[in-house]
Amino acid sequence: MKNLKIFIYLTILYLGYVLYLTKNKSPVMDESYDQEKNLKSYSTPPLSNHKNNEKKDSGKLQFKKVERKKQRPSSAKKDKLESNIKTPQLTLMKLSDDFIPMTEKGELIVPHVFIDGPHVLVHGDILITDLDTFNEKRMDEGLLILPKPRKWPNGIIPYEFASDLYTMDEVRRSIEYINKNTSVRLKKRENEKAYLYFKNGLNNCYSYLGYQGKKQDISLSRSCKQPHILHEIMHALGFFHEQNRSIRDEFLEVNWKNIDEKYHLNFKKIHPKAMLDPKEDFDFESILLYPPYAFALVHGEHTMIKVNGELYEGNRTGTLSEGDISRIKKVYGTSEKIE
Ligand SMILES: [Zn+2]
Repeated sequence: MKNLKIFIYLTILYLGYVLYLTKNKSPVMDESYDQEKNLKSYSTPPLSNHKNNEKKDSGKLQFKKVERKKQRPSSAKKDKLESNIKTPQLTLMKLSDDFIPMTEKGELIVPHVFIDGPHVLVHGDILITDLDTFNEKRMDEGLLILPKPRKWPNGIIPYEFASDLYTMDEVRRSIEYINKNTSVRLKKRENEKAYLYFKNGLNNCYSYLGYQGKKQDISLSRSCKQPHILHEIMHALGFFHEQNRSIRDEFLEVNWKNIDEKYHLNFKKIHPKAMLDPKEDFDFESILLYPPYAFALVHGEHTMIKVNGELYEGNRTGTLSEGDISRIKKVYGTSEKIE
């Protein structure tokens, strides 16, 4: 009897704790950020040459030369390699360690990728290629580059659905929302070569960054709802996560010790030169801002907090913020232009 009482008492304590954790989660997107922890990850060769150069030339040069690690002799034909891995030499901008390394052209160096089924990702949910291409071209052997995002011509984005898309209704609503509220237009694909392809995925919600000039997937699991879909469409339009902004330290403090090192990249800053919209302000309501508990090692303990020590709520509406809408307008122009 006594044991039963202790058991009931412990169960109540446990349920209370679970409830506490649930209540402290941001309403949007936390779950997808947590799931991702089970993914397989790959590190590409370190930027050792870059580091050496930096020490040698410290303070003298603004740009550093970096040799890419040579491709192992393989069946992969040189002429077939994509431009993002065949660059023999890169010129890096000199940036502090809290920035993602970047070339002078605004291309980001990717030191670490995640594999989820057929997808190869960076920054949590940004696709850089598919696994077949990654393996075929031995992309883990060279420096990986995330090119500067490109805009969709005239702000018109053709799209197509996979016929078995689980989230068809959510995607339709998201597209309607974008078309009604922003200055870009998603339209059903006719015969365009470049288009968004909404398809089913096993985990999470993923998108390529910006215009790829060909068919590009937005991969959605059953749990991807309108807020997630709008977030992914924003990536497809070419926008990074809000916490990556170079000015974010004036607004946000990152709790690095509560983030596994392999996810640190998701919280590093990105130089404005790599962005389509190097805007000066910071938007706590942006659909592209991670919630305060994203990627937490210890559940219930924040990974980002306001600089004044207060917790932020993040995007509460599940739609784009005014800031998101105005940045689309800034990059893509007004709706009159695309009518
Ligand atoms: Zn994202």
